Formats: sequence, structure tokens, C-alpha cells
Amino acid sequence: TVHWTNHNRVDGVISSTLREEATCPCYQVLSDIRDIVKLNYQIGIGRFGVFYHGHYEGTAVALKKFSDEHHAAWLRESLMYTSILQPQENMLTFYASAIAVGNTDVAGRSGGSGTGSERWLVTRYYEYGSLQDYLRQHTVPGRTLLQMSASIASGLAHLHSENCGNQVNVPVAHCNLTSRNILVKDNLSCVIGDFRCAVFKLRNETSRPEGVEEEGKETTARGAVRYMAPEVLSQQPGGLSFETLKQADVYSLGLVLWEVCQRGIYTGVAAEGYQVPFQGMVPPEPSLEDMQRLVVDNRVQPTISNRWTNSKFCKVDLLLDPVQLLREMTKVMRECWYYTSAARPTAVYLKKKLLKMSQELENTDPATENEATVPRKQPEES
Ligand code: ADP
Ligand code: MG
Ligand code: MG
Repeated sequence: TVHWTNHNRVDGVISSTLREEATCPCYQVLSDIRDIVKLNYQIGIGRFGVFYHGHYEGTAVALKKFSDEHHAAWLRESLMYTSILQPQENMLTFYASAIAVGNTDVAGRSGGSGTGSERWLVTRYYEYGSLQDYLRQHTVPGRTLLQMSASIASGLAHLHSENCGNQVNVPVAHCNLTSRNILVKDNLSCVIGDFRCAVFKLRNETSRPEGVEEEGKETTARGAVRYMAPEVLSQQPGGLSFETLKQADVYSLGLVLWEVCQRGIYTGVAAEGYQVPFQGMVPPEPSLEDMQRLVVDNRVQPTISNRWTNSKFCKVDLLLDPVQLLREMTKVMRECWYYTSAARPTAVYLKKKLLKMSQELENTDPATENEATVPRKQPEES
């Protein structure tokens, strides 16, 4: 059995720290998982282990194998999927988490002479890969731009919310929202993944998931500094409330929306090439200090292209043309980047706003269907 507990509590911010003491019923030790999940080929090497493409009950899956020393990372991500997160269409689809035990050969196949156990995390496989992968290779027509933006905001709103239909949700702040941790579905809407930095907030005993023994302190894992809000960059240790962490996600979301918008295509105007936020303003692997200097000391925000703001006057709230759309998006982004976290819109507001814009574009611009630059793939199951 796999065991874990939480401990410590700071400002109502809960996260898991892992020990091997209490039993969590959510995990299975599946000695036969190697027979259930068929591995096809290696996709890449992540921070904590190796990614594979595989098949599980007829579905294409991504399998992340964590090495022994990353047991805690595996356990944490498993905990999030099995005990904290409620599935939703804009969340990465989780299938299974297990320790594969028994004799393995060097390649991890059963029947070998080795004795190692492996920690597996099985999720849906997204063929387009991360949003960043997608944007590097594709431009996006207005309709896709809004679909992607609205879906990411919907995923974030779901993550932040205290309820999900009639069910009680454990609210979660992602704390590492980047275009690499968002994946693109076949229908070009997006899902949020990589919850290893996420923190969650337990309100009371009844909302405590099975297996959570004690309340924990804020995770020590840090997200990508490039996407960190000013208050996170200048954080005193242990210093931020859960509400602030949620609004720091909104700041990061604004950066992701900026990445999507620069790849927008509009009649007669070329899209910018793909750039990560603040590209050229900081080194490719910026340090915390680099980002502090840029975002806190100099209060720099990503550059808004003239193309996005130069447009004729259009009636507010009526998206008659793609230029107007980008003006609206620019407003949304700037609000996400407000220096004061409480002044930023909430994820729920952004979800509503972007869905409304999406709807209006559908209503006023039936021609957008023809703009599609990528072959339409079979839609996913609804
Ligand atoms: P890390 O913790 O190392 O950042 P992630 O879970 O973010 O790991 O995955 C790293 C990268 O692997 C992603 O940016 C994406 O390109 C790719 N990836 C991860 N999960 C999937 C998936 N389910 N389908 C396709 N590609 C994936
Ligand atoms: Mg990641
Ligand atoms: Mg991860």
C-alpha cells in the first residue's frame, strides 16, 4: 500500500506533504499494470521521469514513469488527481496511478531479473501536445483563439471554485499555469494539467477527502518564474493567502492569452511569430532575480502589438470584426496584469466574459469557419 499524510497549516493554505504513515485508499499497487497499459514509444523526458505514449483500454494514453527518487512528486500528482480535483472538460483527463512492482528488466518490462518498482501516472494522450507546442506550429483564426482562451479560463474557474454542480469542490490554486502545462485537445479547446505546484484549501472536516489525515502547509514546489505574478516574485516565505494565489493564476492566464493572441490571424494582417512572454527581455532560462527586476522593479508587461489595438471604433460588446476582438482581448489581458492582485478579474468572470465573446463571434461572423488553418480532426467524445 501507498501511504501519505499532510501536516502543518499556514493561513488556511493546504497542500500535501508526503510521509509513509497513513493509508490512502485511492492508490492501487498494480503488479499487472504493465500488462494493462501497453507502451508504444517514448515521447520525452520530463523533470521527474520519462513520458511514454501507450494504450489503456483502447484509448491513447500518456504514461509518466517517475523514478524512485521522485516518489514524492508522483504521490503528490496522484493525490491531486485521485482525491482533490473534480474531472471537467478543461482539465487533463486522468486514468490511473499505480506502483508497478515486481521483477523488471532494465527497460521496465516484467519478467526481467531486476527488482525495481515504478511509479506510473496514466492520463489521456493529447496529440497536439502542449499549447506552446501548438502555437509554435500553428496560427489561430479568431474562432479558435476565443475557443482556446475561453476553455482555459473555464478550466481555471473550475479549479478555483468551491462547488461543482451540486458537489463540493476543493478549491485549488494551480501556481504553475504556463503554455507548457496546458494541453490542446483534438477539437482545439484546451485542458489544464501538471498540478505538481498546486495548493488546495480544505474548508472543514466534511470537505476533507478520504485519506487526508492532517492539513498541510503550502507546497514548496515553485512554478515557472517567467509566469509568476509580481506578488509571488516578491513573496516573503509563507506569505500569500489562498485568495492571492488564485489571483496570481489569473496573472499567469493573462500571459497565456497574450501568447495565443500573438498567433491570431486576421484578414490581410500577418500574425507575429511565436514568442514566450518577455522573450528577449530576460535570458531564455530567467532566474527569480531576472524576473523580479523586470516585473517588480520595472513593472514591465508584455508588449501589446499595434495590430491588436489599432482599429476603427466599434460598438462596445458587439464583436463585428477580428480587430475589435483583439482590442477586447487586450483589455482582458491588461486587467489580468494589474499589479494589485485584488484588482484583477476572477477566473469565473473571465470564463463568462470569454464565453460571451466566443458566442458573439459565432453570431456575427459566420465566415470564420473558412479561416481554419489546420485540418479538422475527429472531435473527441463529448
Ligand atoms: P513536468 O512536470 O516535467 O513539467 P508535464 O506534466 O508538464 O511535466 O509534461 C511535460 C510536457 O510533456 C508537456 O509540456 C507536454 O509537452 C508533454 N505532455 C505532458 N502530458 C501530456 C499528455 N497527456 N499528452 C501529450 N503530451 C503531454
Ligand atoms: Mg509541466
Ligand atoms: Mg508534471
